[in-house]
Amino acid sequence: MDEKLVDVYDEVLRRNPGETEFHQAVHEVLDSLGPVVAKHPHYADAAVIRRLCEPERQIIFRVPWVDDAGRIQLNRGFRVEFNSALGPYKGGLRFHPSVNLGIVKFLGYEQIFKNSLSGMPIGGGKGGSDFDPKGRSEGEVMRFCQAFMTELYRHIGEYTDVPAGDIGVGGREIGYLFGQYKRITNRYESGVLTGKGLAWGGSRVRTEATGYGTVFFVQEILKTRGESLDGKRVVVSGSGNVATYAIAKVQELGGTVVACSDSGGYVVDERGIDLATVQEIKEERRARISTYLEHHPHAQYVENHSLWQVPCDIALPCATQNELNGTDAAALIAHGCSVVAEGANMPCTPEAVRAFAEAGVTFAPGKAANAGGVATSALEMQQNASRDSWTFEHTEERLAGIMRGIHDRCLSTADEYGSPGNYVAGANIAGFTQVADAMVALGVI
Ligand code: GLU
Repeated sequence: MDEKLVDVYDEVLRRNPGETEFHQAVHEVLDSLGPVVAKHPHYADAAVIRRLCEPERQIIFRVPWVDDAGRIQLNRGFRVEFNSALGPYKGGLRFHPSVNLGIVKFLGYEQIFKNSLSGMPIGGGKGGSDFDPKGRSEGEVMRFCQAFMTELYRHIGEYTDVPAGDIGVGGREIGYLFGQYKRITNRYESGVLTGKGLAWGGSRVRTEATGYGTVFFVQEILKTRGESLDGKRVVVSGSGNVATYAIAKVQELGGTVVACSDSGGYVVDERGIDLATVQEIKEERRARISTYLEHHPHAQYVENHSLWQVPCDIALPCATQNELNGTDAAALIAHGCSVVAEGANMPCTPEAVRAFAEAGVTFAPGKAANAGGVATSALEMQQNASRDSWTFEHTEERLAGIMRGIHDRCLSTADEYGSPGNYVAGANIAGFTQVADAMVALGVI
């Protein structure tokens, strides 16, 4: 790492003790910026990188609510408004017991570069709560969302900060959050949240966008080699929103997804994962992926082991951060996997990313490969602003074009800065320079 950047990184470590995921996300970006500070010393003079590593605003709040048994429950809510140089803060809300300030900051930090790279006019932010939706009734989820929004509403707005979903927050939760925002403010402000239902201001393709976008990105990678997804063997981790629509698009394009997972274990189906079954299990019954075998007894369920042992041509980690480590990477490499694209945020550990680079495996980082979700959120904001509603075909075409643009920008930037073919360098540098230029232009704020 460049010496000037080591100082910035040390300051981040000192200011944010114990926030390991945040440190990891910052380290990964700073590691790529050496050639940028060498070529453009004015970024250092304007303290742009230092300022970028400090959120503009961090909000932490109490979320008390009453469960079905009449007991008072207490959770903690977060919203980190990281950077608004390019537009209103934009990024999802995550409801998961692992959520803490460090996790929200790593996600918010990644979001700055991802959103910049998407080419849409949106800043970076992220939020969430340590609330665990697992096993909670509809009524409990609704009351929690209402309690959460009772504080959050004063910090957000279509020109200020526009939350959306992430792990544990889908269409149902966005509905309850939007309902409470509308009730408190007495405003039908569609552009304040994205991921809304189609009947009340949502965009077609938003639900599918992250998974579809990741596969569009893989398609672009394969195109550079004169290949396509047709006949490829693919492993997808997770079975939530991102994984589901990644599986759907891979299948549509002629690939076979042989494995997917949840936090309990993974399923291997050599005939190809039956997506309707996965959706029924996860979206309707909200049950474990192990129940897949009730419908497909020929499949195999493996508990508590890494699904990256399953041989494949293409790996799509779509579950959560740091789910694919150095050992997993070694297994993928040994089995001849040649493309890894992150559908989740930072699912590959630094050791895994290093191993892929050394072995010549093409690696697409999440801030490029999974940017289709937030990009389609920006398309939802566009439709809301013009009180319009686009067709599925038109919206999907826009998404595909955006993913193509991100892919090409990663490659041309990597070339320009002396790391041809390196999508990590390309994504970090292209994402960074656009935000940095805006920050310089806007002055010391
Ligand atoms: N949570 C998603 C992400 O990680 C989407 C955020 C959004 O649509 O604002 O990018």
